[in-house]
Amino acid sequence: MPERRKKRGPMIDFLLIGLIISLTTIILVIILSKDDFKFQKISASKETDSNSITSNLSTESSAFPGIRIVTDVSNDKRTPFAIHYPETDNKAFNDAVLQYITDSKENYLSSMKKNKDKEAMGELNISLETFPYQKHYYSFVLTKTLYTGGANPEISTKTFFINHETGKLIPIETLLNNDENNLSALATYVRKDLQQNPKLKEELFKDDVIKSTEPKWSNFHRFAIVDNSLQFYFDEYEIASGAAGPQTVKLPLSLINPLLASEFQIAMQKPTKPVNVGDPNKKRIALTFDDGPHPKVTEQILNTLDKYNAKATFFMLGSRVQYYPDIAKDVLARGHEIGNHSWDHPVLTKLSLEQAVNQYTSTFAEIEKAINHKPTVFRPPYGATNDTINAQIPIPVVLWSIDTLDWKHRNAQQLLPHVKNNLHNNAIVLMHDIHQSTADGLDAVLAYLQGQGYEFVTVSEILPYRQK
Ligand code: ZN
Repeated sequence: MPERRKKRGPMIDFLLIGLIISLTTIILVIILSKDDFKFQKISASKETDSNSITSNLSTESSAFPGIRIVTDVSNDKRTPFAIHYPETDNKAFNDAVLQYITDSKENYLSSMKKNKDKEAMGELNISLETFPYQKHYYSFVLTKTLYTGGANPEISTKTFFINHETGKLIPIETLLNNDENNLSALATYVRKDLQQNPKLKEELFKDDVIKSTEPKWSNFHRFAIVDNSLQFYFDEYEIASGAAGPQTVKLPLSLINPLLASEFQIAMQKPTKPVNVGDPNKKRIALTFDDGPHPKVTEQILNTLDKYNAKATFFMLGSRVQYYPDIAKDVLARGHEIGNHSWDHPVLTKLSLEQAVNQYTSTFAEIEKAINHKPTVFRPPYGATNDTINAQIPIPVVLWSIDTLDWKHRNAQQLLPHVKNNLHNNAIVLMHDIHQSTADGLDAVLAYLQGQGYEFVTVSEILPYRQK
């Protein structure tokens, strides 16, 4: 008996192991072939229903995790098309996209069929842009350009906003927390933006603008979040003449943050605490330089500041940072504070609120892109601002207490007298790093102030000592 058992034991073990190995192999093959199916480029020829046009469909993985791009191309001589659209693992999303694509193709092919001019050539192009937002969201913007034989194309936009973790489509209702009050506030912003757009003055269809921006959910279904703005799309001829083309309204998220459901809100930047809160009885002064960066003047000023081991604050224009990102980087690298001074120096109070906030937001983004560091203080051009604008700026809005008028006299010899005559403790001194005379007169100012026992600090460091 024990001998028999011994003989059977290994036999059963052997069979079991064999079974396990073959099962594992089968499972592995299934998984791998599924992956192949998912990620490899697959090509297939497909007959479209409405017309016997051969199109070439291919699907490939993209730089965006979980998103595949489907390309559908037909080289038919009379009815060519090139279509790109997104595909995910979520069936409801894929169905919604495919519905739009199929409708677009069928409309195109049937109107070409109806066109009796057999020489007339059509074209359908649907292009795709993908914009990630925060960790889980994607905006897809599909732009359709359609020729059906005429000289001018019809251009229209379709958007999809999804949570790619859940795969679910998110409508504008969810974005605005299903709140009609939020919808009304948003509608007002969009309407104002269109009505106050100087480029649209002559082109706007006034009644259509009112109709298209009534606080109805259906008016705001074409949206995307792009570069920290919520954008709404209006097709050609929808609200303005053909000369104006299709319109996009961009609302900075910082402006409409309170209207968004919490999961879509942006983290508003908290004012930064001063790094070193020193002796309150000490003498200190904050030198500030506006309107740069400038390739020559800013560099000279940086060298003079270094000579006195002085720290200062530079309020930069976004438009100039775009041209001189390396100078902006150098200012930061040498230990100075970076401020936002608007994009191109307009009087903010003369702009619409959205435009004013856009001046802040675009510059914030440009500076962050250039130096990988967020500006910590804001100064409105000409010091012109109001409570409504300030309420939208999430960082301290800082003016000055000593104006050197360097932009006016442009005289190196006059810089020090202007500082001297107005000197007081915890002063903020206004200068401009775009005038050679300012760079030339700075050494005398620093030498004098150092002799008087002043410490040179940044604006954020001096703010706690200034009375509001
Ligand atoms: Zn300025």
